[in-house]
Amino acid sequence: MKQTDVLVLGGLSGITAGISCRRHFPDKKVTLVRKEGTVLIPCGIPYIYGTVGGPQNNVVPDGLLESNGIELIKDEAVEVDRAKKVVTLKGGETISYDKLVFATGSVPLIPPIPGVDKKNVFPVKKEFDYLGKVLDGMKSVKNLVIIGGGFIGVEFADECRKGRDITVTVVEALPRCLQMAMDDEFCAEAETKLTEAGVKILVNSKVEAITGGDSVSGVRLADGTELKADMVILGIGAVPNTELAKKSGLELGYRNTIKVDRYMQSYNDPDVFACGDCAEKPSFFTGRPIGVMLASIATSEARIAGSNLYSMTHQNCGTVSVFSTMINGRAFGVAGLTERLAKSNAMRYVIGTAESPDTHPGGMPNSCLTKVKLIFAKDTGVILGGSISGGKSVGEMTNVLSACIMHRMTADDIVQFQMGTHPALTSSPIAYPIVTAACKALLPMRTK
Ligand SMILES: Cc1cc2nc3c(=O)[nH]c(=O)nc-3n(C[C@H](O)[C@H](O)[C@H](O)COP(=O)(O)OP(=O)(O)OC[C@H]3O[C@@H](n4cnc5c(N)ncnc54)[C@H](O)[C@@H]3O)c2cc1C
Repeated sequence: MKQTDVLVLGGLSGITAGISCRRHFPDKKVTLVRKEGTVLIPCGIPYIYGTVGGPQNNVVPDGLLESNGIELIKDEAVEVDRAKKVVTLKGGETISYDKLVFATGSVPLIPPIPGVDKKNVFPVKKEFDYLGKVLDGMKSVKNLVIIGGGFIGVEFADECRKGRDITVTVVEALPRCLQMAMDDEFCAEAETKLTEAGVKILVNSKVEAITGGDSVSGVRLADGTELKADMVILGIGAVPNTELAKKSGLELGYRNTIKVDRYMQSYNDPDVFACGDCAEKPSFFTGRPIGVMLASIATSEARIAGSNLYSMTHQNCGTVSVFSTMINGRAFGVAGLTERLAKSNAMRYVIGTAESPDTHPGGMPNSCLTKVKLIFAKDTGVILGGSISGGKSVGEMTNVLSACIMHRMTADDIVQFQMGTHPALTSSPIAYPIVTAACKALLPMRTK
């Protein structure tokens, strides 16, 4: 039997947990068992079908493991005996561990739609060979239907139109694409960009059946509309991959995620930790578990888990939920609560908005208008969330908002924010939109 101090099961967050463990406990032997031969950059998957050109250009290099002294075993863990602290692999090998980290991630949600198992209907799996086959299959496609207008759906739609003269239709059940993630005004902007890219959008539309023989030939909507389709992509979300954890007797919580505490330690075994999509996540704002699954959260949790394996040092403050995307050249980002979420949580809030070019003067080449919307708690002035659209700087500006939220800054704090500015790189210091939006929220906040 093979022996290791720390055994990690997983890919993206597994690598991060392993590296974190080696950084904090360099004398520990870390072994990573991974089902997939190659780890894809999950967020880059839609770009395989356009910008990056293939799965081979979208991988996390295994060299990261080697350079951090982590042993990699490409196999699937099929049994965990927690009493004996032994994991059995599909290939028959057994490994004894001192500490075990579950980072087994998530798998795509397959909706119970008639016809969903037809040829050329593809859930978005994070698998190298599979995604390569989808890319090959796309060569002969004329009509692509994407079910789901969330991040995955709209990014796929935008990318699949690039360099292909095909009809791409996004079918979304809610009144807006990206509605779960953004407020209406940003959804509307995103939909406009998507339409300008030649994508057809059908909102308020439920898919009733995927039609055809062996292979898909169409999609029927609940209102009777028939769409032609020779390929369907399912972009409606993911579910945690926790069958093995369940089989090993670990307690599962919200939506079948592994129950963990703030140290990422499992509830019912002090030697088992979990991180990433397979682990339960408390909201930063309410402490209640939430269903957000993001690579950025997964890796943050993995760093915490890795650092706590032999001494409890870091705590998970909860999921702020920060993400960004790019649609037909325009970037969108959200950190924390949207106005929709603040409303649904019955919070008393105040909004501040601002717009400014992301260069100064605005006439600089490639200048882009940035729109910022900030949400503050009315009674305390603490920032609850922010949404931004604009150029590439939106990605890092959204991350700045996350830092403000995590440190519970108030509108008054943000008004005094000292930013660095440069004509080619940022908005003007007179009109820096995060600061302006905070300034504009102050008066309504003080008006009782
Ligand atoms: C198309 C797409 C786009 C996305 N875009 C973004 C984005 O822009 N930003 C963002 O933050 N997030 C994005 N996400 C979400 C992100 O991909 C996930 O949150 C992230 O992959 C979670 O990482 P993880 O390590 O927890 O799980 P996973 O990435 O699911 O990895 C789990 C790994 O565990 C392995 N495994 C599972 N079971 C076993 C076993 N029994 N034995 C051994 N190995 C096992 C799997 O093979 C896999 O390699 C996107 C997701 C998709 C699908």
